[in-house]
Amino acid sequence: MPRSLLFATALFALSSCSPAPGPKLIAITIDDAPVTKPLSYSDNWERTVVTDSLTGALLRHGAPAMVFAIGSDLQVPELASLVGNWTTAGFTMANHSMSHRSFNTLSREQGVLEMSQAQAVLSRVVAPEGRSRYFRFPFLEEGRTLNDRAFWLSVLDSMALTLAPVTITTDDWRYDNEYAAAEEAEDWDRRYRIGQEYLEHVRSSIRHWDDLGGQLFKRNVSHILLLHANRVNRDYLGHILASLEADGFEFVTLAEALEDELYEEDVTWIGPSGVSILESIKQSRLASGTFSSR
Ligand SMILES: [Zn+2]
Repeated sequence: MPRSLLFATALFALSSCSPAPGPKLIAITIDDAPVTKPLSYSDNWERTVVTDSLTGALLRHGAPAMVFAIGSDLQVPELASLVGNWTTAGFTMANHSMSHRSFNTLSREQGVLEMSQAQAVLSRVVAPEGRSRYFRFPFLEEGRTLNDRAFWLSVLDSMALTLAPVTITTDDWRYDNEYAAAEEAEDWDRRYRIGQEYLEHVRSSIRHWDDLGGQLFKRNVSHILLLHANRVNRDYLGHILASLEADGFEFVTLAEALEDELYEEDVTWIGPSGVSILESIKQSRLASGTFSSR
C-alpha cells in the first residue's frame, strides 16, 4: 500500500473511533453588578468607567453576557442609575441575592428572603426587557449540605428562577484587590505587573477547567466563565476575550451554554466552599467510582 494511502487509512481509523470534540462554546457572566465594591470609588463617574469599559469590550468581541446584580446595591439611587449602562448596551440583569451573604451561613427563611427580596428590587429598578430570571449564589456557596442545596433549588424552581452555575472560576477578585491597591498608591508599574500576572492566571485557569471538562465528558463542554465587574476586568476583559477567540472559543448566551447536558448531571457532592460545577461532578464521580483522576 502506498505510504499516502496508509496514512489516510490510519487517519480514518483514528477519526472513526474517537468522538468529535464539538465546538468550543463559552458564556460570559459578570457578577456583583453594577460594580463590585461600589463604595471603593470616589464618584459615579469612576463607576461608569468600569461599566462602560466592560460593555465596550463585550460588544467589540460580540460576546453576550449575563450580568448578576446585588439587590441592596440597586436600592442606592446612584448605583441603580448604572443599570442603564448595562441594559442600553443590550445586556440583561439577573439575581445575585439581596445582600451577597453566603448561603452556607443562612437559615432557610433568610435564604428565601435573599432570593425574593432581590427579585422584587430587580423588578422595581430594571425594565422588563433588561431582566432575566437567573440566580447565582454569592461565592457559589449553595448550602452546607446536599439537603440544603436541594431545598434552595426547589425554592428557585418555585420562583421560576434558573440556577446559573459556573465551570471556570478565575480568582479575579483576589487579583483585583492587589490591582486596586496599586492604583490607589499610583504605583503604575506594579499595577501593570499585576495585570499581566492576572491575564496569565486567567489563561491557565481556562486551560485547567477545559482540560477537566474534556476528561469528564470526552468532548468539549459548553463553559460558563465567572468574572466580576471590577477594576482589573475594566482594563483586561478585552484581553481575556481576545485570548479566548485566539484559542478557538465561540461566545454564546448563558441559555445556550446551559443546553449542555453536563448541567443536568446529578451532583452528589458538596464542598465546604463554592467551586466550579466541574469540580462537583468530578468529586461526585470519584465517590461513586465512575471516574479516576489521571
Ligand atoms: Zn458575587
